Amino acid sequence: MSNKVIVVGSGNAALCAGIAALEQGAQVLMLEKADEALAGGNTKYTAGAMRFAYDTSADLIPLLRNPDDPRVPKTDFGQYTAQKFEADLLGFNEGRPLSTEQRYLIDQSGKAMAWLATHGVTFEPIYSRQSFEKDGRHIFWGGLTLAAMNEGVGLFDMELAAFERLGGEIRYGSGVTGLIQSGGKVTGVSVGDEAIHADAVILASGGFEANADLRAKYIGPDWTKAKVRGTPHNTGDGLVMALGAGAAEYGLYHGCHATPMDLHMADYGGLDLDPGERKNYRKICYFLGVMVNALGERFVDEGENFRNYTYAQFGRAVLEQPDHFAWQIFDSKVFDLLYAEYRFHDAHFVEADSLDALIEKLDGVDINAATATLQDYNNAVDDSTVFDPTILDGKSANLPLPKSNWAQKIDTGPFRAFPVTGGITFTYGGLKVSDQGAVVDTSSAPIPGLYACGELVGGVFYGGYPGGSGLTSGAVFGRNAGRHAGGSDPGRA
Ligand SMILES: Cc1cc2nc3c(=O)[nH]c(=O)nc-3n(C[C@H](O)[C@H](O)[C@H](O)COP(=O)(O)OP(=O)(O)OC[C@H]3O[C@@H](n4cnc5c(N)ncnc54)[C@H](O)[C@@H]3O)c2cc1C
Repeated sequence: MSNKVIVVGSGNAALCAGIAALEQGAQVLMLEKADEALAGGNTKYTAGAMRFAYDTSADLIPLLRNPDDPRVPKTDFGQYTAQKFEADLLGFNEGRPLSTEQRYLIDQSGKAMAWLATHGVTFEPIYSRQSFEKDGRHIFWGGLTLAAMNEGVGLFDMELAAFERLGGEIRYGSGVTGLIQSGGKVTGVSVGDEAIHADAVILASGGFEANADLRAKYIGPDWTKAKVRGTPHNTGDGLVMALGAGAAEYGLYHGCHATPMDLHMADYGGLDLDPGERKNYRKICYFLGVMVNALGERFVDEGENFRNYTYAQFGRAVLEQPDHFAWQIFDSKVFDLLYAEYRFHDAHFVEADSLDALIEKLDGVDINAATATLQDYNNAVDDSTVFDPTILDGKSANLPLPKSNWAQKIDTGPFRAFPVTGGITFTYGGLKVSDQGAVVDTSSAPIPGLYACGELVGGVFYGGYPGGSGLTSGAVFGRNAGRHAGGSDPGRA
């Protein structure tokens, strides 16, 4: 008889777990808290970008929906080796060695992509956001090259189609409220008054980013003010249930992915927008200009590294400024390079013909201090180096707080400034899982019948995040949890 597996959630991690369990011959029921429109969780809000190790562009071609795209032969995808992925993660680990989870993520990243492709999930190069044109060629600069066709919604649609093709069942509007336990084993879940029994339960219900109380408890009091970039449904239910069943807390609970966002966006992300417009609240082109806070001061090195390596940290930096906001300031030299979200119909900005006039329009900012900051910055710009956004160009503003790359004078009108705050994307603290994907208790023993994957897995991210790793992590840990939960003896874990 086949195993019965319940998967809690319906995002990328849940669907990968479900598909992998079905491959093992299990019967799979997916329970999703949201209604059908908001099913798919944060996954649907994403750009679908996925980071994985590859040695040559030949590794990418089998993953593409359209390998005959005429741009492909004129593209330098470079390579993104396992060693580079390691170095990128280590760069954020604040002195920690690579964790077991990080090693597993790197090792399985390319394999998970190839596995997804066997299930009809296809990808396209991220020309608009991860490459710049140079001498007639498309140069990818950050090791992040592919996104699912039609972004996060496309990823969800393709994975759900594969899940249903293999016989998986999904129920919407079915928030799991409890775990059923018997003899030390998890034997099912409650959905309100209804009890549903199973041989294994896989928690794939996301982090606690949409729960203001848990944010305040674990990350800090400022975080009640954060915007939530994605779904309102990731309120930490799975985490709380697992901890209640004896699971150990694992990973960096005060860590999270947070990005500069439009100060005036709604409290949660909007799924009601067309693909491509969905991320219109995100504002991550600070590397092309400067950011000032209410005191009129810069507070980060905007050109410290490619934005894939800074955007997930700078949301925190903005949120921690006085009154939790900042302004991003640009001149017309870079308007064409700003991502589309800076030009969307509901992007908030002020504009002026002179820099002084622009500074006057910066609500909440100390005008004299901001004027001095901008003057100092312009005076410090190294004019001898050529601006080149495809590389770390070393064109710097040499100040006590430098801008290390892409520092151009802000001197050519018109000028624009965009108000931003910090938006939380997902949380880093979670559960410890065994090599088989089972949730581990406080004595390091697996809890029989209970598995976890996706944002719920701790130990994957610490001080920061190389863009595009979250979906890959969901695919890698989801596939592993599903394979074992759907296998011959899930209760043993
Ligand atoms: C705006 C935005 C853009 C992003 N862009 C990228 C990107 O391009 N690349 C990348 O790698 N990562 C990106 N991320 C991060 C990425 O979304 C996450 O890493 C990933 O989607 C998490 O997948 P998951 O399956 O763990 O969670 P989710 O996709 O969030 O799924 C969790 C699901 O669980 C459901 N749920 C919650 N509680 C319950 C319950 N009690 N019962 C039943 N169901 C429940 C939720 O409704 C949700 O559907 C982005 C995130 C956001 C918000």
